[in-house]
Amino acid sequence: TGGVSGIVAASARLFAAEVARVGIIDRQADEIDRIVNEIQAAGSKACGQTADVSRSDEVQQAIDAIAAQFGGTHVLFANAGVSGHGSVVEIPEDDFRRTIEVNLFGGFLCARHAIPHMTDGGSIIFTASELALVGSKRNAAYTASKAALIGMARSMALDHAPDGIRVNVLCPGPIDTPMLRRSIDGHEDSAAYAQMIVDETPLQRIGRPDEIARVALFLASDDSSYMTGSTVVADGGATAQ
Ligand code: NAD
Repeated sequence: TGGVSGIVAASARLFAAEVARVGIIDRQADEIDRIVNEIQAAGSKACGQTADVSRSDEVQQAIDAIAAQFGGTHVLFANAGVSGHGSVVEIPEDDFRRTIEVNLFGGFLCARHAIPHMTDGGSIIFTASELALVGSKRNAAYTASKAALIGMARSMALDHAPDGIRVNVLCPGPIDTPMLRRSIDGHEDSAAYAQMIVDETPLQRIGRPDEIARVALFLASDDSSYMTGSTVVADGGATAQ
């Protein structure tokens, strides 16, 4: 989910190159077509469904359609996310609610509707963030939504281990995607803010979407067969300090 820009677009390309059949769910229909066409033109199998991940009926319809087309579901990469800025005093209540609705409730709905299709076991990956692990100024809604995914994933790991379904969380640091660019552009001195991100990252650069896609591929595949309930951080060292 969240598959037309940034992290999932890179993951969809990489998974497809590894012969996965990729179903992309996003709320942006025209953009889905662009990625699906690109993957199909490269000789791989892909399809797309439009859905708002915070709406149960839309998510169920989208996942059922993809599972029907491809004969099941083995991996869920629940990645769609939004950011809601402001302290708890500043942020409009609707923005706080919406951040939780998309980032946490959306992940819950995707898992709820994907798991019944995982009859041969599977792998679920939630995209959280380095900001699930540390605080962040004027980011209370986002950090709350992402930290909660870690708790949910741990409980899910226990519930679904007997069915061979592994559940892990991927925590990216700053990654060059439209979301990060919007955040940088929203600052008064965006160049200084971008530089501050680089300075605060031990590897001294912003990450690329394909660097997160490769971690997602590892978690999706049998290469991570003994991992469940884990939180995997790929943040250039940002939370090491
Ligand atoms: P992005 O904005 O490029 O992509 C997010 C995608 O989610 C978009 O395609 C958007 O259409 C989709 N989306 C948003 N709300 C949706 C909804 N209600 N229903 C369906 N689709 C919806 O951002 P990205 O950076 O690729 O973000 C992917 C994930 O990575 C997010 O969960 C984000 O919180 C997380 N993340 C990003 C960074 C970063 O620096 N870019 C860092 C840590 C975590």
